[in-house]
Amino acid sequence: MVAENNTETDVIGNLERVRGELIAAANEAGRDPDSVTLVAVSKTHKPGAIRPVLQAGHRVFGENRVQESEGKWPGLKSEFPDTQLHLIGPLQSNKVRNAVALFDVIETVDRAKLARALARIMDETGRRPDCMIQINTGEEEQKAGISPLQADEFINLCIEELGLPVRGLMCIPPLDDEPSLHFALLAEIAKRNGLKKLSMGMSADYQAAVRLGATHVRVGTAIFGARQPFTG
Ligand SMILES: *Cc1c(COP(=O)(O)O)cnc(C)c1O
Repeated sequence: MVAENNTETDVIGNLERVRGELIAAANEAGRDPDSVTLVAVSKTHKPGAIRPVLQAGHRVFGENRVQESEGKWPGLKSEFPDTQLHLIGPLQSNKVRNAVALFDVIETVDRAKLARALARIMDETGRRPDCMIQINTGEEEQKAGISPLQADEFINLCIEELGLPVRGLMCIPPLDDEPSLHFALLAEIAKRNGLKKLSMGMSADYQAAVRLGATHVRVGTAIFGARQPFTG
């Protein structure tokens, strides 16, 4: 059940429910619930809708646009300094410097040019947000991410040649496909490359993702309710 609007009670109730379901899914899978991090996806939502979630103690958030995040998060981060902000949307090369400055995790490393720019800016600034590599598990033409067939080579480039702090993989399964197949594929690619973190699962399928080893689930609608186009 998803809230119709963003009143404080609804969002906090939703947050508690999602947390409870994550714990139950982890327990059912024989996993430690603490091994699954809930990334609350706050894209399009204004600071006024996000602050109550911070006040309720939640600290891990996901945003998909650098520019939108720069308008919202510096203020919220200064109020709640231990916040962990994840970039979960495509990163353009000309926004890399800003992204490295603001985000704590960049989940969408998806091409060599971007990986090289990240390495250069990290070396220059000394700030090194954790990275995840986005895998296009469904090999969809319109979707960002490295093809599963090129994943091993790309991971090797990022870690061995560029020295990026790569912690894991992320995927966004095709809309009309059984997500579990994609979650299993992502887990397999991570395992054979010695990577521990798996960012997979959104509002519709986070329980399945936890069963298949997700360490991060990215949940927006089930917490904040339906999204309006961002106008801030
Ligand atoms: C928006 C978004 C989400 C959250 O989707 P919901 O269905 O609202 O939970 C998760 N991951 C990515 C990459 C997104 O862009």
